[in-house]
Amino acid sequence: MKPPMPDTRPADSPSLFPSHVRVVDVLLPVAVGSAYSYRVPEGIEVAVGDIVVVPLGTRHMLGCVWPRTEDPRESPKPVDPARLKPIQRKYDVAPLRPAMIAFIRWIADYTVTPPGMVLRLALRHDESAGIARERTGVRLTERRPERRTSARERVIAALLDGFVRSKSDAAREAGVSPSVVDGLVDDGVLETVVLPPEPAAEAPDPDHSRPELLPAQAEAATRLVAAVKARAFQPFLIDGVTGSGKTETYFEAVAEAIRQGRQTLILMPEIALTQAFLDRFARRFGVRPAEWHSAVSTKRRGRVFKGVASGEVRVVAGARSALFLPFADLGLILVDEEHDNAYKQEDGVHYHARDMAVVRARLEAATVALVSATPSIETEVNARRGRYTRLALPERFAGTKVPRLEPIDLRREGPPRGQWIAPRLAQEMERTIEAGGQALLFLNRRGYAPLTLCRACGHRIKCPSCSSWLVEHRFRRRLECHQCGYATPVPTECPNCHEPNSLIPCGPGVERLHEEAAKLMPEARLQVLSSDLAGGVERLRAELKAIEDGEVDIIIGTQLVAKGHNFPGLALVGVIDADVGLGHGDPRAAERTFQLLHQVAGRAGRHEMEGRAFLQTYMPEHPVMQALVAGDRDAFYDREIGVREEAHLPPFARFAALIVSGTDPHAAQAHARALAACSPFTGEVRVLGPAEAPLALVRGRHRYRLLARSARLFDLSAYVRAWMAGAPRATGNLRVEIDIDPQSFL
Ligand code: ADP
Ligand code: ZN
Repeated sequence: MKPPMPDTRPADSPSLFPSHVRVVDVLLPVAVGSAYSYRVPEGIEVAVGDIVVVPLGTRHMLGCVWPRTEDPRESPKPVDPARLKPIQRKYDVAPLRPAMIAFIRWIADYTVTPPGMVLRLALRHDESAGIARERTGVRLTERRPERRTSARERVIAALLDGFVRSKSDAAREAGVSPSVVDGLVDDGVLETVVLPPEPAAEAPDPDHSRPELLPAQAEAATRLVAAVKARAFQPFLIDGVTGSGKTETYFEAVAEAIRQGRQTLILMPEIALTQAFLDRFARRFGVRPAEWHSAVSTKRRGRVFKGVASGEVRVVAGARSALFLPFADLGLILVDEEHDNAYKQEDGVHYHARDMAVVRARLEAATVALVSATPSIETEVNARRGRYTRLALPERFAGTKVPRLEPIDLRREGPPRGQWIAPRLAQEMERTIEAGGQALLFLNRRGYAPLTLCRACGHRIKCPSCSSWLVEHRFRRRLECHQCGYATPVPTECPNCHEPNSLIPCGPGVERLHEEAAKLMPEARLQVLSSDLAGGVERLRAELKAIEDGEVDIIIGTQLVAKGHNFPGLALVGVIDADVGLGHGDPRAAERTFQLLHQVAGRAGRHEMEGRAFLQTYMPEHPVMQALVAGDRDAFYDREIGVREEAHLPPFARFAALIVSGTDPHAAQAHARALAACSPFTGEVRVLGPAEAPLALVRGRHRYRLLARSARLFDLSAYVRAWMAGAPRATGNLRVEIDIDPQSFL
């Protein structure tokens, strides 16, 4: 995985065009492999990395002045320069630095995606949020100048959007000298306005409130601080159980980056929900970090984008998309809960933010630390091989023990038919609540029941456009498809045999569990937490707060509650169906189950109270359950790594998946077969399939999968690229998705 060196030649090197016409290549955020050529009009100066506004067809869009390359995939086709369209203007933001351009190219290469699609991830923010930094700004009036020059026209064009800009920004965007702007103000074409005072971007203070570190924390912090100081690429794994003080430890590295004047990126899987983290950051550094995720307003995003590019914003906490922000000087990347699946983007550019964070750190000569209590097998193997330096925090800060996990064997002590809470778990819950503690029932199933069945004819109700059962949501009184969002009222008769009142719910979801718990403990205060909660993120935050404040006795939750929340009063966790993830043939099933259940159990007993956790399982002898019950993490990793090596599974081999889909199943299958037939032959790659995908139908599209497998050190991306270059084109509505290092096999 060696990154290519960035091309630093000047953008307007005159290789293809006559010297009197200035031409540059501009990469646009579209799914085309190569850059486009544009003419640079008189009076505008552009260099590689500059963000510019250019016409494309009837639209205008942002693009990046791209370095010329020998790579035919990126080079535009030569066009008669006289026919080239001109760049409209420069966009007011710092240019993309060579390291960022190299990063975009690296990801495009690795994921086998057009570079423009990766650039799109990097330019995704609101274009109209140009916020002037000075106290006064200028904007256009109704008047137009008597004396018209091309410089003046460009200023007017730049300000036609009606937004206020500082004089210097207006001049820079139009590519003219400030005196042109002054002249237009004098002529009444522009007017000066006073802007409301902007709060200055407050800088975090590295010494605001420094904790006394435990010896293990101090040792780990020293290593991280030294790495940040060294300003060289160094990857770490911060490995310690929940509550061992990992966050407090990496804050020391953040403090050092701030002292060095470099920027920090903290990636989190569920940033929209981790308000507690932001407050905690503020307690340590005096101010909150900048946030970057889908729940941040576009205006705010525009501001963060520019602040990151200018270097003014020092610390960003964000979701995976924050990885594409144009940092001016990135010195430290932290990937919290690095094992989390939310880091893998499953559409568009299929990238894994954890892996790409390591790539970006290398290109930026930055320190990177992956943080987890249950590292991914990939990361654990990298740590065992010494590629990542392991910093271990073996004990919980508060001295409490990670809860013991006790199996409840559903074959011997399960609940009565039609119920899901075993008698022993019910007893323990009662005892916990009487003692003033909280209990969490964990079930990773939204809704009331995962399946609706006709008792007369056995018919099961399926989604009309997906191969999945409809899930009953009793609260909303409808059946829903969790693949495509299709929803329909619960029918009063079987859609197949038309027998009235014959439909029965099968299996439990959190709503059904809620019903059962309420019957068992009528006095208890209950709260269901799942992504179905009406009221969105705001409501969810309020409910989490209520739980923290002890206003709830029993929490019934999906995996939403497993992630990073701190419930001080939580003393008991009951996992309703510990086996749910182990059933199907996913090579990561054991790893996922181990991580999720360990994490859920770790929610209990983080403070004074000792926590307890129960696993309801039909297979207490399964190695994953055994490792969880014995609290033997190493046993799990040793065994799982052995299994992967033996079976030639990642990270001991490499996978690339192709998913062919279309509305016509025959056409999709035929195209998948044609792809298989033209896969380049080499003894180093095996192509398996096509096979119908486990999720054979999604949103009316029939899906077929191919899987290419190679040795670990083989360049599988290059192979897939060569394969696609010689493959028949997907016509009609056929689509081929490429997924390098697939996480999902559905
Ligand atoms: P982790 O990130 O490993 O889950 P945290 O960093 O969240 O662990 O620490 C767990 C708890 O212990 C937090 O409430 C944190 O504030 C506290 N803590 C950790 N280290 C220290 C320390 N050195 N001084 C004071 N409190 C600490
Ligand atoms: Zn559906």
